[in-house]
Amino acid sequence: MAKDDDGIPPDEVMRKLRDFMKKNFGDGVSLMGFPPGGGFANHLDEEESPSKSGDSSPPENDLSRRVFDFDLQPKDIKAHLDRYVVRQDEAKKALAIAVCDHYNHARYLRNHRGATAIEITKQNILILGPTGVGKTYLVKHIADLVGVPFVKADATKFSETGYVGGDVDDLIRELVRKANGDVELAEYGIVYIDEVDKLATRGQLMGRDVSGRGVQTALLKLMEETEVALRSPNDIQGQMQAMMEMSRGKGPGRQTVNTRNILFIVSGAFSGLDEIVGRRVKKAAIGFAEGPRARPDETALLRESSTKDFIDYGFEAEFVGRLPVRVVCQPLTAPDLLEIMKFSHGSLLRQYELDFEAYGMRLRFTDEALEQIANLAVEEQTGARGLVTVCERVLRNFTYELPGSAVSELVVDAALLSEPDRILKECLAKGLGAASGRALADLASFRRLFAEQHGVRITFTDEAVILLVQQAEERKMPLASLAQELFRDFHFGLKLIQKNTGQTDFLLPRSAIEDPEHYISDCIVESYGRSKAGTGRGLNPEADFPPEPDPTKIGPHDGGMA
Ligand code: ADP
Repeated sequence: MAKDDDGIPPDEVMRKLRDFMKKNFGDGVSLMGFPPGGGFANHLDEEESPSKSGDSSPPENDLSRRVFDFDLQPKDIKAHLDRYVVRQDEAKKALAIAVCDHYNHARYLRNHRGATAIEITKQNILILGPTGVGKTYLVKHIADLVGVPFVKADATKFSETGYVGGDVDDLIRELVRKANGDVELAEYGIVYIDEVDKLATRGQLMGRDVSGRGVQTALLKLMEETEVALRSPNDIQGQMQAMMEMSRGKGPGRQTVNTRNILFIVSGAFSGLDEIVGRRVKKAAIGFAEGPRARPDETALLRESSTKDFIDYGFEAEFVGRLPVRVVCQPLTAPDLLEIMKFSHGSLLRQYELDFEAYGMRLRFTDEALEQIANLAVEEQTGARGLVTVCERVLRNFTYELPGSAVSELVVDAALLSEPDRILKECLAKGLGAASGRALADLASFRRLFAEQHGVRITFTDEAVILLVQQAEERKMPLASLAQELFRDFHFGLKLIQKNTGQTDFLLPRSAIEDPEHYISDCIVESYGRSKAGTGRGLNPEADFPPEPDPTKIGPHDGGMA
């Protein structure tokens, strides 16, 4: 264990501190900044947390080179986004321009450090649009392309003070962490805050909205320019570590992060804003697009939104003023969702195909089924997220039942969507049939041998065959060996029945496989009783030797026999 100059192991100090905090303040208070396992404060979105996603950031030098040599043009960014994001053309263009401007300015300022550079206003971005239409997806892919660290959080998780919810400054510290500690690179990162509409203080004076205004003010400072301490004042562990580094003779290094070049993108659904805009522009004056697109009126109205509308909605004028670029993402229609499924780079279908491939199965969707899934997903009103909901619902039982079965392919078609239970049963039966092709041939030779050796013929009901095949698979033994084991002494009983009744052909049901001894003794007893009548269970005196079984026809609903 590493020790500092005074011989105190730092880890020991940390542990003691942690114990002290827990003992005095309980589990509610923790040492922030270096939580066990290296995670980050829990108010940041999990999906963006590297502890879950794995840190995929390119190496430090590469990142720095990419951002400081920024030479992309708006068309490059749009082309990149087109590969992943369906629709949202207007948003893609506006974002591409704003991002190019931002990084060109940043590069300019960096190259003219010290000289009297021109004053440049930062173009933070406000995205309006319903959930699940690609807002986060757009921003994430832009950050990937530019090569800057990217952090996402929900505005609702922050509080003004940082005690109840998170502290907005944590966002900046998280950027540094995403940049592998490279503070300079973090200073060019992207912070994305969703659900910012929930910070509006419209019509309310108490409760959450008071804090909403506080968070607006806190964010405002970040969006403008401020210095954020690298270590949070609540981060006692971090503070201690800094002190120990100092005492070891390491210089203080960078203590703050400047937010001047950090690009802020905020978004929200802003429901109700359209009404405010509508009242202002006299709704009728807006050209409403005709067509199948969901709620086109709302999108059209949001495009017309002005600073005043946001103030009326409950935002501080200064806050809205720091978000000069406004972009509207439109709701996704069924054809859009279809396109997302079929063509988008991060295709959902591909994900499901991969899931099935992992179990050695092929998954296919017919075009008709895809259209139906898209229509069902629109009804969910959660944008592209509805696709996951619908597919998960449709495929859940198949994903549970089919792995480990003999089914090698599943075709999702209209029939499967309308009668999933029936199709699942058929699938399982068919799979069993296909898998048992060899096994059935095995069984046929066993029957032939049995007839030759004992002068009596046995056949099996479909249910009996299914059970035999299942048992052979479970016990991993050839079906003929299993049958020989099960029916080793069967011929004695059958011969006795033959003697009593003259019967030579026996149809064996499932119960004969489940408990052969019990079954045959029942039959023998019965044969004494019906020896005169000449009828009874298992009797099939008129049957010819049955044909070879057809594996594809095997199933509980089939009337055939093997
Ligand atoms: P939000 O608008 O709420 O930020 P997201 O961008 O997080 O929604 O979308 C959720 C998921 O849905 C994305 O990860 C992506 O897979 C898919 N998605 C959403 N919109 C689109 C789109 N326009 N094109 C392609 N995929 C999309």
